[in-house]
Amino acid sequence: MTLQVAGRVNRISVSPTLAIMMEADRRKALGIDVVDLSLGEPDFPTPVHVKRGAINAIERDFTKYTATGGMPLLREAICAWHASQFGSSYSPDECIVSAGGKHAIFNAIQALVEEGDEVVIPVPYWVSYPDIVRCAGGRVVMVHTPASDGFCLRAEQVEATLGSRTKLVIVNSPNNPAGTIIPRREFERIYEVCSRRGVWLLSDECYSHFVYDGAEPYSVGKIPGSKPYVIVAGSLSKTFAMTGWRIGYALAPQPLVQAMVKLQSQSTSSPCTISQYAALDAMRGNMEAITTMLEQYNRRRTCTVEGLRAIPGITCTAPDGTFYAFPDVTAHLHRRSRTHPTGPGHFENTAELARQLLESEHVAVVPGEAFGAPGHLRLSYATSHDRIEEGLMRMARFLRSPESQS
Ligand code: PLP
Repeated sequence: MTLQVAGRVNRISVSPTLAIMMEADRRKALGIDVVDLSLGEPDFPTPVHVKRGAINAIERDFTKYTATGGMPLLREAICAWHASQFGSSYSPDECIVSAGGKHAIFNAIQALVEEGDEVVIPVPYWVSYPDIVRCAGGRVVMVHTPASDGFCLRAEQVEATLGSRTKLVIVNSPNNPAGTIIPRREFERIYEVCSRRGVWLLSDECYSHFVYDGAEPYSVGKIPGSKPYVIVAGSLSKTFAMTGWRIGYALAPQPLVQAMVKLQSQSTSSPCTISQYAALDAMRGNMEAITTMLEQYNRRRTCTVEGLRAIPGITCTAPDGTFYAFPDVTAHLHRRSRTHPTGPGHFENTAELARQLLESEHVAVVPGEAFGAPGHLRLSYATSHDRIEEGLMRMARFLRSPESQS
């Protein structure tokens, strides 16, 4: 019997970033020295006081189910932390804790989007948004943000794409993969457009605290009166180096939070109790670890961007935030190798370039196609200075190799 998988699964694909991670891991397991610049996760350990929270929870036998939408104490702490960091004013009944930011976004979209509803997604986008929308039966409407404008989403572009079936606009600032921050005033204008047209605005704040050059973390949730149209999606994964703990949250109007809790009650139930206790200490504790990480990321940002710019044929804008560089490598596409016109060293697209880079130099990067932006590569600098330099050296060698010379 051939397995007939449900349409909702056939409509989506495995996350391309996770697929690359698996391929890089496979090579590492064979003993190959892979420089992995594909990973979207901090290389720093979870802060000590956060780990302590989890250890205490285990020792005190806090290992049972909690309320489906997260422990009331944690929801209160998240609202208080969000208020102190961004100036918002959410109450615990407007907060749900989920198994990571991705889960919170998945729940919000499942709870809101009906078959055929349109969801506006700026390009380049985080790999999961389109598939999460398609899984819910929604129609993805892409808005292309030009590289010449630093991939910044503008309110006029949003307005131009809104139609009678638009349910939701998703924004991510600073964004994965380009690191672009939407300027504060522009963000407010995007919110104004959405609220005027009765469209939801989902703001993914996953990288909120990793911003450079004096930029401050910003949340659209602080705009007075914005609650009826705004969903804030947050994650402790990057901010507190907690990717494996799987804690994220959403802040939204109470009826929507209730719908998300209902959905969660029939899928995952409450997030891991031990992780919730760790999160409680993250929310209540000091933020020194974040300052330290940011300083390191900032140094690595300089080293990555300068290293990329030193490779002929690559241009790279310094990211405003996150820990990703998103260089333009189009000059290296469609070149003919002297010896193998269509073989190694010839790339039609960045997916092929990334594949050959991993094959011959064991450097893992994510091709722009995964984010809807062919011609680019995403390099994560959430790894040590030495590994970044090694990766860039191999990449320069690869792009200069006789096979890839035209
Ligand atoms: N949003 C963005 C833009 C991301 O890059 C990620 C993870 O890579 C997430 C959300 C979800 O993170 P998590 O599910 O680990 O909280």
